[in-house]
Amino acid sequence: PRGLMAGKRGLIMGIANNRSIAWGIARACAAEGAALALTYQGDALRKRVEPLAAELGATVVGHCDVTDEASLDAVFARCGDLYGGLDFLVHAIAFSDKDQLDGRYIDTTADNFTRTMFISCYSFTAIAQRAEKLMQNGGSMLTLTYYGAEKVMPHYNVMGVAKAALEASVRYLAVDLGGKGIRVNAISAGPIKTLAASGIGDFRYILKWNEYNAPLKRTVTIDEVGQSAVYLLSDMGRAVTGEVHHVDCGYHVVGMKAVDAPDI
Ligand code: NAD
Repeated sequence: PRGLMAGKRGLIMGIANNRSIAWGIARACAAEGAALALTYQGDALRKRVEPLAAELGATVVGHCDVTDEASLDAVFARCGDLYGGLDFLVHAIAFSDKDQLDGRYIDTTADNFTRTMFISCYSFTAIAQRAEKLMQNGGSMLTLTYYGAEKVMPHYNVMGVAKAALEASVRYLAVDLGGKGIRVNAISAGPIKTLAASGIGDFRYILKWNEYNAPLKRTVTIDEVGQSAVYLLSDMGRAVTGEVHHVDCGYHVVGMKAVDAPDI
């Protein structure tokens, strides 16, 4: 294969369906010649991920629930058998109880706080630990975050706190792994209507608000996030690590947002 990612072997975790950001990234990496291994969470998603994998000639390496260590170990063992190593990794996984992605942050429960942190933040570290062993010739790891880590966004609540911790973990991992030539970055994507996003209260309003206020006057697509991911995952980004790169049509630079959009 030819392209910016020819000869690179990657594991992409977090495809639920053809609207997933991880799917946009997989498609962009495949278009640049990467060989891909994909995981799915549970049998319900397996039926969705298998045909998508076939479309890209990707290998499905099994079920992975990040709360189940055995499933994580099995997936990495499978990648080792399949490729003998890994060049890149994509973590596009987050979860919080839908009831708490609405209303006030202060009402979050200890249980949901812990679960949200574990699945949305710690899992990236757990995956990085395993991927490090397979990246003997250096590599690139990428996770997905959102502006709600930096500023308070309505309804994002405990997920914003988890994303802030995730962004901090990107910096710590970048230092831990830099000596081995392994880079660690995050893309802070603008809002996109996906399965996970549909759990967030008033999401349509958030999309409209972004459309109205972003410098480019629109929201981003999963393909655009995918193409930015190619830069960070390929050798094009070889001097970039510890970075949170915004792919949000510029929304985050605007200080004085409009009071209201005329068509909301
Ligand atoms: P999505 O629903 O398509 O993907 C979320 C994925 O997380 C699913 O594939 C799901 O199976 C997986 N997941 C959840 N809990 C898991 C667990 N315990 N073990 C393994 N996998 C688990 O939604 P998406 O919007 O593509 O989300 C991907 C990433 O992008 C998330 O980290 C999300 O926070 C982030 N993000 C999304 C937006 C947006 O507006 N959609 C914006 C910025 C960042």
